[in-house]
Amino acid sequence: MKISVVLPCYNEEGNIKLLYNELRRVLTNKYEFEIIFVDDGSVDGTLSTIKEIAMDDRKVKGISLSRNFGHQSAIIAGMNSASGDYIITMDADMQHPPTLIPTLINKANEGYDIVLTIRKSTVDAKFIKRITSHLFYRFFNYLSDIPLKEGSADFRLMTRNAANVFLGLPEKVRFNRGLINWMGFKTAFVEYHSPRRISGKSKYTFIRMIKFAIAGILSFSSKPLKIPFILGILSFIFGLGYSMYVLVQFINGMTIPGWASTIILILMLGGAQMLSLGIVGLYIARIFEETKQRPIYIIKERINIE
Ligand code: UDP
Ligand code: MG
Repeated sequence: MKISVVLPCYNEEGNIKLLYNELRRVLTNKYEFEIIFVDDGSVDGTLSTIKEIAMDDRKVKGISLSRNFGHQSAIIAGMNSASGDYIITMDADMQHPPTLIPTLINKANEGYDIVLTIRKSTVDAKFIKRITSHLFYRFFNYLSDIPLKEGSADFRLMTRNAANVFLGLPEKVRFNRGLINWMGFKTAFVEYHSPRRISGKSKYTFIRMIKFAIAGILSFSSKPLKIPFILGILSFIFGLGYSMYVLVQFINGMTIPGWASTIILILMLGGAQMLSLGIVGLYIARIFEETKQRPIYIIKERINIE
């Protein structure tokens, strides 16, 4: 039984050696394994650190992407090069404890195809991150037909079978945790506590988190497309009512220069139209992204991989 550990790395030079030692300690003499570092277009010493380790250890493989393609794409790049029977993906900043790996493997040995982890607490997360994360899961689950467990991170194990299905999905804009949920399969959950990031800082800024959340929602819900419809109906009913009122006023000869009402109508209709167009635009943009059929990553260099 061979284990592949896939680690997306974006400017993680301060974490890689430590992580490597930890993984070695957990895996050596217990499993047959490979460790795949994916350098997602880092601008620090990440790539050279990976090369350094890979020189002395053939079990360490490296993939360097031609630019920063993003966390989700880096995971796919690494998984595509993995040759293990079990594929484990985890963050490279030690927030996903390597000591949990044997637990994941045991679950898979029990017959689960996918083992997901649920983050119980994170000392690292700022208040604002915890709140926004919580709101995201609430909102996502409200909109989507396939619920996502709060705290599910990109730390998981997939058997070869499940991984092949996952990698075969043609979607380009990927919200991996949603896709995996959607796939089904026999799934186990393992809880863990996330420690502080060892070195460097989080790449998920507030803006990036918002983008990630929108990407997730667009992939898994078409409900926002219905908002324009509802807005349309509401403004139509309002318009009808208001017109009746105006008509009655007119008949009674009480029409006055209606500056306020004109402005209000323009604002309301303008707002509703803009919002509707915006929502439709988001989905059209998504269709556009998917039809381009571009690869989701480009490999610049392979290390210890034929
Ligand atoms: N990452 C990546 N490409 C990116 C951003 C992040 O490969 O464009 C990696 C990063 O190196 C880390 C993981 O994805 O291993 C999670 O990122 P981070 O720790 O910044 O996210 P957080 O834990 O704060 O949500
Ligand atoms: Mg992190």
